[in-house]
Amino acid sequence: MSKYQWLWLIAFLLLGSSFLPASEWGFFGHRRINRLAVFTLPPEMIPFYKKHIEYITEHAVDPDKRRYATRHEAVRHYIDIDHWGEFPFPNVPREWSEAIMTYAEMRVINGNGDTLIAAHPEVMDYSGQVVRYVGNDPELAAWWAQTSLPVNEYLTWFRKHVMPQYYEEDWVATPSALSELMGRETDCREVRFIDHFSEYGVLPYNLLRVQNNLTEAFRSGNEAAILRLSAELGHYIGDAHVPLHTTENYNGELTNQRGIHAFWESRIPELFADEEFDPLVGRAEYIAEPADWYWDIVLTSHQLVDSVLRVEKQLSQEFPVDRQYCFEERLGRTVRVECTEYARAYQQRMRGMVEERWRASIHAIGCAWYTAWVDAGQPDLSLLGTGLTPSESDYFRQLEEAFRAGEAQGRKH
Ligand SMILES: [Zn+2]
Repeated sequence: MSKYQWLWLIAFLLLGSSFLPASEWGFFGHRRINRLAVFTLPPEMIPFYKKHIEYITEHAVDPDKRRYATRHEAVRHYIDIDHWGEFPFPNVPREWSEAIMTYAEMRVINGNGDTLIAAHPEVMDYSGQVVRYVGNDPELAAWWAQTSLPVNEYLTWFRKHVMPQYYEEDWVATPSALSELMGRETDCREVRFIDHFSEYGVLPYNLLRVQNNLTEAFRSGNEAAILRLSAELGHYIGDAHVPLHTTENYNGELTNQRGIHAFWESRIPELFADEEFDPLVGRAEYIAEPADWYWDIVLTSHQLVDSVLRVEKQLSQEFPVDRQYCFEERLGRTVRVECTEYARAYQQRMRGMVEERWRASIHAIGCAWYTAWVDAGQPDLSLLGTGLTPSESDYFRQLEEAFRAGEAQGRKH
């Protein structure tokens, strides 16, 4: 081989490593966690889930594949909650429409075609009884001064006129809807809303959405939907247990620790989960308040972010530099990964945090499935039909094609 051929080969290997589909807990982790969660279930549920355990395992990674098919998917896997302030994040409404409303921008286009930015999260205050403009533009101050709009009325209006358009390209409302909101005629040709919240992640809200959908699937006895939503809920719950899914510094870029995301959630479990993590996590329990419970999971994860980063930073300075990274063959490619002993030292210094979150994920998934089933009235799962409907099979085929074709939309995280 000539010198140039060697260089090409090396370049190919280096590039190749960045194309490996790494993601939350890795594909390995998500599949394993979903599988183990089946064993937490009560006797009324376990035969059904065992019968479909290959499905529940395999489809644990569908939400990651869907990031190749829709731009709405990526944000469901994380929340950069530290973008919004400090723990316990009083600026983040725990309810979905309230969060979207609080961080929406309202643009009013008047009769002359001029645009007035009537509300922007930076200049609005929704923390009191009445919506208040707190910026220093006299025109806007005058515009808001003509109206006394209770926050809860705005929220009700927002739920009715804006939230149903969440998945649309543009969020628009009519002049008459604006008049109804403001309680007066306004010089308005059109109203538009711009979302400034979702881009920082919607994980906790999405958890509750999928939980509710799963409950509904149990209620209607839709076997295909029960299986699909169980698998997907397992995925999102897994993500919620990963501290780096709750921070803007999700891959250590801000602290010069690039790659720590996959190190923590993929490399460590792949090395140690099967051999060393205790897979017995106890029985699934009923969750009385799923919304609060999901928020607790996310906030608990967030409180671990500091250790995840600090411990690795310290270790990287103390551990012999030439024994931190190793090269391994994977799928015919050479990839650079953290060495086993370095990974072990990291996990030990975090006092087994990865195992603790791993086990907590498994237990939480069982609890979520069990809760959905109880909330649906404990339907008899032995009466359910057989397997996938044609439209479900079609859906999975399209998902697989999009995943193989290409580029994930949004953050790889
Ligand atoms: Zn994910």
